[in-house]
Amino acid sequence: MYDVAVVGAGPAGAAAALSALRTRPGARVLLLDKQDFPRDKSCGDGIAPHALDELARLGAAHVLLDRVPVRRLRLVSPRGTQAEAVLQRPDYVVPRTVFDARLLDAAVARGAELRRHTVRQVEVRPDRVVLDGEIEARTVVGADGANGVVRRRLGLPHQDPSTIAVAVRGYIPWETSDPEQVIVMDGRDWPAYAWRFDAGDGTSNVGFGMLLPSLRAAEHGKDALHDRLVQLLPEAAGAVRLRSHHLPLSTSRPVQPDGRVLLAGDAASLVNPLTGEGIFYALLSGRLAGAVAVSARDPGASYRELLERELGTHLKHTSLLARITAHQRVLDAGVRAARQAPGAMDALVEVGLGRGLITAPLVRALAREATHSLRPLKRTHLRG
Ligand SMILES: Cc1cc2nc3c(=O)[nH]c(=O)nc-3n(C[C@H](O)[C@H](O)[C@H](O)COP(=O)(O)OP(=O)(O)OC[C@H]3O[C@@H](n4cnc5c(N)ncnc54)[C@H](O)[C@@H]3O)c2cc1C
Repeated sequence: MYDVAVVGAGPAGAAAALSALRTRPGARVLLLDKQDFPRDKSCGDGIAPHALDELARLGAAHVLLDRVPVRRLRLVSPRGTQAEAVLQRPDYVVPRTVFDARLLDAAVARGAELRRHTVRQVEVRPDRVVLDGEIEARTVVGADGANGVVRRRLGLPHQDPSTIAVAVRGYIPWETSDPEQVIVMDGRDWPAYAWRFDAGDGTSNVGFGMLLPSLRAAEHGKDALHDRLVQLLPEAAGAVRLRSHHLPLSTSRPVQPDGRVLLAGDAASLVNPLTGEGIFYALLSGRLAGAVAVSARDPGASYRELLERELGTHLKHTSLLARITAHQRVLDAGVRAARQAPGAMDALVEVGLGRGLITAPLVRALAREATHSLRPLKRTHLRG
């Protein structure tokens, strides 16, 4: 019998395996994935600086060593306001064929057993979990991504469609000695945005994402994603390897149940509702899940508590900020604040990509800009 079976060998699954083996060297850890690696995963490939901290905690910082740091970030609000900043800590843009395969190699090198297998059934017994009637483990980590089977088999409620985003990504040739990440927000179907993330290796990842209900209402169905991408970012015309996928946003996360089955990464709806960032959360939740899987008496209860301690307040703040910035006027004020107030862009990055909170200086900067944007309205109103 395995100590841990991890379903899904993406960032959450590989992190869980690495962490289990770090916590208990010699543990029997099985990693299952339905695909052979290297495998592609539809993604913007943006790796936040906070993910680097997680990689270091997992003993796997080497996976990004040869990659180009991307320090520049440019935001364009739905109303066209622009803000540019050089970030305190750089991002990395790494194709998932590379990033995920390297992380998985690190887990296998540490002692995890990798098997190609599509999990369909999950049976929870008092002392073990049985997958597909044949694979037995003391604890199972469901790291099988958006629409994962483990979560469904636990009988947890379906995610509210209004909290699911859909995004398409592709690649274009893009030579630059000064790579940047560009986000162009869509005023027509906000919240929705297009991105161009330069990898610094002669290519850029381009994409566009919107909420599922808006996509369902769009005239050309799935083509709407590509059409909007090219309208907002003309350089994305001709992008290749177009591929779309769901993003289950953390605004309606399932409650982690007690017991022997843990959910990590997208399977636990750990995707930032402001930015669609999920790799940092996948690494963090995988690390916590892997550690408790080999050490706790009730892994589910311990994991729920740890996750709450690490991300609970932050996730409440991101949900609140997502609700507030659904109003384009507030969002525009946010982008202006990012342009004008020192440190405001870094504060936004902390909330959008890391585990930051809505800080007092950020609220003050937002309030200042929002008041400023209301002034002309007031005057018009008074004159009228
Ligand atoms: C278009 C798009 C752009 C994005 N851009 C970014 C970005 O720039 N930065 C960022 O941080 N996040 C981004 N995200 C989110 C990010 O891709 C995810 O949050 C991240 O991949 C989550 O990792 P994971 O390990 O939980 O799941 P995944 O990476 O999806 O891995 C799940 C694994 O489980 C396997 N699997 C599934 N079902 C089974 C089964 N039944 N049996 C066995 N194996 C199974 C799959 O083959 C897969 O390998 C984006 C998402 C999309 C869709």
